Amino acid sequence: MPAVQANEDGLGGKLAKWSFGLLGRDGAVAPEPLPAPPRDQGNGRLRREVDRRRALYDDIGQFLFSHDLDLTPLNFGLAHDYITGNDLQIEKAVRAILQDRGTLTNGLAENIIAQQRVDEITADGLAEMLDQVEANVEALSVIADQSTSSAKDYGAALQREASELASDASGGDVIAKLVAVTRTMIEHTREVESKLRDGQKQTRLLQKNLETARKAAEQDHLTGLPNRRAFETVLREETQVAREQNETLSVAFCDIDHFKTINDTHGHDAGDRVLKFVAGLLARVSDDRCHVARHGGEEFVMLFRGKTVAEACVVVDEARQDMSERNLVDRKTGERMEQVTFSGGVADVFGYPEPRDALKAADRALYLAKEHGRNRVYIARESD
Ligand code: GH3
Ligand code: MG
Ligand code: MG
Repeated sequence: MPAVQANEDGLGGKLAKWSFGLLGRDGAVAPEPLPAPPRDQGNGRLRREVDRRRALYDDIGQFLFSHDLDLTPLNFGLAHDYITGNDLQIEKAVRAILQDRGTLTNGLAENIIAQQRVDEITADGLAEMLDQVEANVEALSVIADQSTSSAKDYGAALQREASELASDASGGDVIAKLVAVTRTMIEHTREVESKLRDGQKQTRLLQKNLETARKAAEQDHLTGLPNRRAFETVLREETQVAREQNETLSVAFCDIDHFKTINDTHGHDAGDRVLKFVAGLLARVSDDRCHVARHGGEEFVMLFRGKTVAEACVVVDEARQDMSERNLVDRKTGERMEQVTFSGGVADVFGYPEPRDALKAADRALYLAKEHGRNRVYIARESD
C-alpha cells in the first residue's frame, strides 16, 4: 500500500490504520502484536471487544462528519464497509474518489452504492433484483400511501426502464443506465425514509399533544381532580361494571357551605386554597372503586362502587366531620379562618332509571341537608 493513501482518507491516515493496519487485510502492514493476556482474561477480552467497537463507531462518525455526509443508513453502511474493509468494491471505489477528489459527497456516495449494486448483477441475478425492486417498490408504496403517492409512479417508471434494459444488448450502456436507475431508487428510498421518519415524529408529537389535550380536557386545573366531563365518563363506565358484576353503586354530591362568604371575607385566592384543601381531603378517600371529581364551583361528586348508600354516607360523613374539625389559617393575613364545612347528599345509582337521575336525587338530598342547617350528609329517598 502506497504511503500516500494513508493520508487520503480525510482523517490523517486514521482510517487507513483501521482498514489495513489493525485488520491487516491485504497484508501490506503487519498486524500489531497482541498485548499479553491480563489476569482476568475474560473481562480483558470483553473490554478489548468493546474498545474495538467504540473505536469503529468513532471512526465511522468521524468519516461521515469529515465528508459532511448525511446520517442515513446507506451512508452508515458505506462508511462501515470502507473502514472495516468489509466490502472490497466499496473500499476500492471510496479510495479512488478520495485519491481523485480528496473528499466524498452524498451524490458520490450514492453513485458508489448504486455501482456496487450493479456490479453484483449477473444475467441470472438481474431478474432476481428486479423482483426485489418490485417488492421494495411495493413496500415503499405502502409507506408512501401515508405521505405521498409518488412511490407507485416511480415503481412503474423503474419497471419500464428495466424491461427496456433487459432487451438492450450493449453492456456498458446497460450498466450506465442501471446505475442511473438504481441511483434514482436510492434517492427515492432516502426521501421516503426521511418522510417516514418525519411522519413518525409528527405522529408521535401529535399523539403527545392529543394526550396532553385529552388530560387537560378532563382535569380541573385548580384542584387537579378529574372534572365533571371526566366524571360523566366514569359514571357511565362504573355503572356498566357494577351492573355486570352485580355490585352496588352510590353517588354523592358535596357542596362547601357558605363558600361565598369565605371568598368575600378572605379573598378569591384564599377561597381557591380552601377549594384545593377540600379537594385533597376528599381525594384521600378515592381508590380504584371510589372516584372523586370537581363537578364545578365549590361542588364535588363522589362515586362508590361496592358500597350501599348507607356505607357511602358513612364515608362522606367521616370526611365532613374531618373537615369541620380543621382549623384553617388565611395564609395572607395569618389569621385563623372560621370553620369550613360542607354538606352532602348520597343516592343509589340503581334506584333510578338513569345514573343522571341518581345524581339529581343526590343533589336534592344535598339541598335538604343545606335547608336543615348545613354541615351534614343526607341520603336520598327513592321517592323524593
Ligand atoms: P351554600 O352554603 O348555600 O352552598 O352557599 P355558598 O355561598 O357556598 O353558595 P353560592 O352558590 O352562593 O356561592 C358559591 C360561590 O363559589 C360563588 C362563587 O364565586 C364561588 N366560586 C365558584 N368557583 C370558584 C373558584 O374556583 N374559586 C373561588 N375562589 N370561588 C369560586
Ligand atoms: Mg354550590
Ligand atoms: Mg356552597
